[in-house]
Amino acid sequence: MSAVTFTTWGRTYTATPARRATPRDEPELQALVAAAAADGLRVRAVGAGHSFTDAAVTDGLLLSLDRLQGLEELRRLPDGNALVTVGAGIRLAALNRLLAGLGLALRNLGDIDRQSIAGAISTGTHGTGSRLGGLATQVRGVRVVLPDGSVRAVSDDDAPGSADRELFEVARLGLGSVGVLSAVTLEVVPAYLLRSTERVRPWAEVVDGIDELFDAHDRLDAYWFPGTDSMLTWSHDRLSAAESERHAASRRGPAGALRSAGSAARTFLDSEVLANGVLGAVMQVAAAAPRTVPRLNAVCAAALGDRTHVAPSAEVMVTRRRVRFAEMEYALPRAVLPDVLRELDGWLRTSGEPVAFPVEVRCTAADDVWLSTARGRESAYVAVHQFHRMPRQRYFDAAEKIFVAAGGRPHWGKLHTRTVADLAEHYPLDDVARVRAAVDPDGVLRNDYTDRVLG
Ligand SMILES: Cc1cc2nc3c(=O)[nH]c(=O)nc-3n(C[C@H](O)[C@H](O)[C@H](O)COP(=O)(O)OP(=O)(O)OC[C@H]3O[C@@H](n4cnc5c(N)ncnc54)[C@H](O)[C@@H]3O)c2cc1C
Repeated sequence: MSAVTFTTWGRTYTATPARRATPRDEPELQALVAAAAADGLRVRAVGAGHSFTDAAVTDGLLLSLDRLQGLEELRRLPDGNALVTVGAGIRLAALNRLLAGLGLALRNLGDIDRQSIAGAISTGTHGTGSRLGGLATQVRGVRVVLPDGSVRAVSDDDAPGSADRELFEVARLGLGSVGVLSAVTLEVVPAYLLRSTERVRPWAEVVDGIDELFDAHDRLDAYWFPGTDSMLTWSHDRLSAAESERHAASRRGPAGALRSAGSAARTFLDSEVLANGVLGAVMQVAAAAPRTVPRLNAVCAAALGDRTHVAPSAEVMVTRRRVRFAEMEYALPRAVLPDVLRELDGWLRTSGEPVAFPVEVRCTAADDVWLSTARGRESAYVAVHQFHRMPRQRYFDAAEKIFVAAGGRPHWGKLHTRTVADLAEHYPLDDVARVRAAVDPDGVLRNDYTDRVLG
């Protein structure tokens, strides 16, 4: 147990907790939580530190679940899906490998695999797909360690309205505000192949037809470099059974798993733009000479090209982000998306703000998870990024104003300035407060961020 400084991946927050610990197993985790609470310390868990907000920051006990990463249980379901229970600290990359070895896969993913499953679900991490929900919608049950050191297993099998079912709702997406997750049960699907297609299209054509594009593909991402006139759309579509069989026959691994497509699976955007050293070099130039940004963006946009390939689902969805940035992302009602994009584009063109990172656009289905940004509405997501060493305040303030006016809900793990007063119209915060008060009457699980956004 030691006190060591913790800094988020995006270099947005640093904290010096009084204690840090990495429990070996659930009983040790229970003892650590109970002891900290008895000593009057607050308790937070941290996953990969990939939230840009201060969600994982504490001055009390900071727990890493890095040693709780194993497969606890696998239950095959009659429809071919399966329920897998894993240690809550498992990183998505390790989880994807584990599932691939079992001929299984997550139904959907975000665009990286560095996060822990607990951290990812706790902030509402999502991918894209108009018929697909975020990661928390794939959670069927959790085990959660409460401030008194006890463990509760709760799931979507618990009776609606019961205390256990309500605890499940806040535990599967609730910023760690009702306890430390020790295990997560996910419903996963048989391994599948995706066809990834990148196309460069005129900006206005994509924006005018974005609704149709979202619905025409299983998953669709769109990116543009500020101030340029083209947009890259990146769709991932599931292969038909016959197409899958043909590809799988040539790609079976030893355990019947789908073999990696290797570097051929990397998208152009990923391999040539987002991940490689060139973007890093571009950012250094941009930071030193912001006036070069429009030219740099034009060069980056011109480098984008059409490309298509087929690979196992996780390989297609996961990109590598080696250049550090800060990010804000809002979920919007889908209908307002084109107007929001036009307004944001207008601001970027007229403000002269040097922004060398692409804007990203995604969507998800509506869901019923209490604190999900897609709760009760089909959602479009717009994310703005800035190189971590460049000023971002003016850009993020302007973008946030546009998003909020359009009824936006901030991603819980990405920078924003909303508070509980603003968020109350979007979420059942009284219900969340009731569940928190029942399991954590002394506020052991609070931090500045939960105080700000959950009350
Ligand atoms: C490069 C990059 C790409 C990203 N891409 C996406 C994307 O495609 N889609 C998207 O939606 N988001 C994305 N994000 C945001 C990211 O998925 C979330 O911020 C996520 O929470 C990070 O997971 P983590 O393991 O790092 O959690 P942390 O940031 O470490 O923690 C997040 C929250 O979870 C809590 N927590 C962690 N472990 C536990 C536990 N065991 N029990 C209870 N609570 C716990 C923490 O206390 C904190 O409140 C991205 C972030 C980065 C930096």
